[in-house]
Amino acid sequence: MEKHVPHGCPPRVLLFPFSEQGHVNPFLKLAELLGLGGVHVTFLSTYYIHNRLLLHSDVQSRFKTYPGFIFKAISDGLPDDHPRSGEKSYEFFKALNVVTKKLLKHMLASDELGSDISPSVTCIIADGLLAEFTTNIATELHIPIIHFHVISACAVWALFSIPNLIENGELPIRGKEDMDKLVTGVPSMEGLLRFRDLPSFCRTSDVKDPILQGIARESRQCTRAQGLILNTFEELEGPILSHLRTHCPNVYPIGPKHTHLKLKLAKKEVISVQSTNSLFKTDRSCMAWLDAQPLKSVMYASFGSVAVLTRDELIEFWYGLVNSKKRFLWVIRPDFYKQGDDAKDVLAELLEGTKERGYLVGWAPQEEVLEHPAVGGFLTHSGWNSTMESAVAGVPMICWPRRADQQVNSRYVSEVWKIGLDMKDVSDRKVVEKMVNEVMVERREELVNAADEMCKLAVKSVSEGGSSHCNFDRLIEDIYKMNK
Ligand code: UDP
Repeated sequence: MEKHVPHGCPPRVLLFPFSEQGHVNPFLKLAELLGLGGVHVTFLSTYYIHNRLLLHSDVQSRFKTYPGFIFKAISDGLPDDHPRSGEKSYEFFKALNVVTKKLLKHMLASDELGSDISPSVTCIIADGLLAEFTTNIATELHIPIIHFHVISACAVWALFSIPNLIENGELPIRGKEDMDKLVTGVPSMEGLLRFRDLPSFCRTSDVKDPILQGIARESRQCTRAQGLILNTFEELEGPILSHLRTHCPNVYPIGPKHTHLKLKLAKKEVISVQSTNSLFKTDRSCMAWLDAQPLKSVMYASFGSVAVLTRDELIEFWYGLVNSKKRFLWVIRPDFYKQGDDAKDVLAELLEGTKERGYLVGWAPQEEVLEHPAVGGFLTHSGWNSTMESAVAGVPMICWPRRADQQVNSRYVSEVWKIGLDMKDVSDRKVVEKMVNEVMVERREELVNAADEMCKLAVKSVSEGGSSHCNFDRLIEDIYKMNK
């Protein structure tokens, strides 16, 4: 039955991110942006995320200043020590669709997600990875729903095109010998994407693979939603956004979100310099180490919150960095190397050998690190948040994509935006050393110029009158219109 919102209540938006750092972070940024727009927000996450977030971040104190803001948690039906990504992610998706779906429907129907002032959810903003079951619930309960994909528009478009690729026989990929051939089934990316640049889910020998099918289904759900939010900007991905708009009624590119938020907070004279949305304990000691390094001399290396390396990969990267003779700051999470490997011992050795020019941390304040004047390059796994953060900081990248959207992102970074180099599918110390030197010395000027241009465009887009700024105003207006 359709709900009637009491007259005069502010709109209440339910934000529901997927259970990973790279999703929680942009969702929290969106929560703050919406809060600044006067919208009441309920931030719903699984207990797995909720508990870590409250432990390691400063969100609780920060969000107290936003009227009507509520944190809520929901079960994902799995024990705390069960992996949520990697090989076991299918079980995780299954549990979400059974346990979480039922709980969420009940919570929405019984107004458990509101407050006295704004008791009912008037709009759901669900993660693009959780699109199917949340859209089914929203449709049943007559609540408007908008999807938020935290990946690039080009990756969303490549995922959206998976059924085409299956239909035209390009998936499954025939074999290793085809990896460097060009793909034809992703409109507007012909001549650019090779098979190795397709999202990692496409690297399967069976097109009935449940993960591939699930991802393809989820990414097509945006055609059923009232809108699609993306952490990108028109000037960066305009042609792809036009394609998406032919399928999704209402696309809101409002990124780069972290810069957008920073500018809006600055306008309100709120200083948010050291705020963190981390699920991991941040080691800020690297900031003092950076302070002592020369200008643009440090290669920052981090592969995000999920990527796991083998012992051999870890060693190759370490030698590559050390042999480059450049300074480096490397994030090595405690769960960064494959379980069962003896990488832990190796790491102790590496640490000893790192002292001269390097610094290792378990988790860095990445946005701040990338903006530090000592940082001159970023060795990254091409996660979309990292890519945007690096682009806005004007820091050229070496891309070593691991999974999901990252293969597409790195291709765009190197071949379209030309703000970095793509080291996809290679982990060889000689190549690492060569690319570090290219980014820091040999090709520095050309890469930095392109990165600076990108940075200017990004800042313009989120400034008053810019494309992302206007798209966000439109989003807020539309959310208010839904509040009937
Ligand atoms: N991050 C951080 N400290 C680190 C490593 C990563 O704060 O030491 C943040 C980074 O700024 C980004 C997020 O974690 O916002 C990672 O998201 P991304 O999309 O780049 O990769 P994912 O973790 O999803 O693979």
